[in-house]
Amino acid sequence: MTVFQKAFPLNPSTAIPSVGFGTYLIADGDAENAVRTAISLGYRHIDTAEVYENEKGVGAGIQAGLSETGLAREDIFVTTKLWPGHAAWGQELKNEEKTIAAFNASLERLGLDYVDLYLIHSPHGGPERLNQWRALLELQRVGKARSIGVSNFGEKHLEEIKAAGLALPEANQIELHPWSQKPTLVGYMKDHDIAPIAYSSLAPLSTWRIEDGQDSAKTEQMRISDGVLASIAAKYGVTEAQLLLRWGVQSGYPVLPKSLNPERMRQNIDLDGFTIDDGDLASMKSMDRGGGLAWSIGDPSYID
Ligand code: NDP
Repeated sequence: MTVFQKAFPLNPSTAIPSVGFGTYLIADGDAENAVRTAISLGYRHIDTAEVYENEKGVGAGIQAGLSETGLAREDIFVTTKLWPGHAAWGQELKNEEKTIAAFNASLERLGLDYVDLYLIHSPHGGPERLNQWRALLELQRVGKARSIGVSNFGEKHLEEIKAAGLALPEANQIELHPWSQKPTLVGYMKDHDIAPIAYSSLAPLSTWRIEDGQDSAKTEQMRISDGVLASIAAKYGVTEAQLLLRWGVQSGYPVLPKSLNPERMRQNIDLDGFTIDDGDLASMKSMDRGGGLAWSIGDPSYID
């Protein structure tokens, strides 16, 4: 097994490892063991969020992983995310002060004194969106967040920041895989030096989030495989999951596979032994179906 350890720069002093460990849908009580295992298998980036309600377990897992491997805090890249509030769900939108307070609470649950990347989880902050972004700029200025960005932002949300004359996000974490390639948004981000980070890379798998309660917008129809990804994967002697993750890193996107299964965790970081050739990349490019599956928001540009 070769651990894939390339890193992509986010700013002059921070680079994000190309394969991170995703923790959405990992319960707080399972997170310590999962994160400890991930670090011992070679993962050097852990992705969590306030809204996943597992930051305490993730923090304990990071400590356990560091002790087990002898690594230092600086060797692990940690991402967490602000839940901005969502008016349609009856939630208060966080203002600048509440954003700072939410960050400090995340840091305390994680047991850390800084994070490597802090993201606004979604553009649902509406009228408070710019104030939330101002808070992140302040957190970066004081060194508590080494890099800052957003998630699920569309062009119009990024344009809003630009129009306000504020520094643009260093990254936008979005759903990216062969079924949801978002070429216009990714092109815009490239032009503005905003790094894409891919989530839900494994969504095209027929078994993706198949267990009860796994929060998937995937219909039964979408679970029927035409076998094309499987046959490309077979050509390289890898699994479909490895093919999808390799597609991400080969496209220049850090990926964040989540699994509670140690064998899959091992497989998901073992991406170095093959390169997808131009013909297969072209065939994967033709699989784009537009919007994503992980969030019912689909096209994020619809949010005001
Ligand atoms: P993933 O693309 O990581 O897929 C996870 C699913 O695939 C689970 O059902 C898992 O099951 C299964 N799986 C994992 N590895 C394999 C494998 N090798 N072979 C077969 N099946 C496999 O989905 P996520 O949506 O969790 O996305 C990854 C991470 O991205 C999240 O955990 C989170 O950190 C982040 N994210 C961010 C979002 C945002 O809004 N910013 C939204 C969604 C995700 P099992 O556990 O049983 O192995």
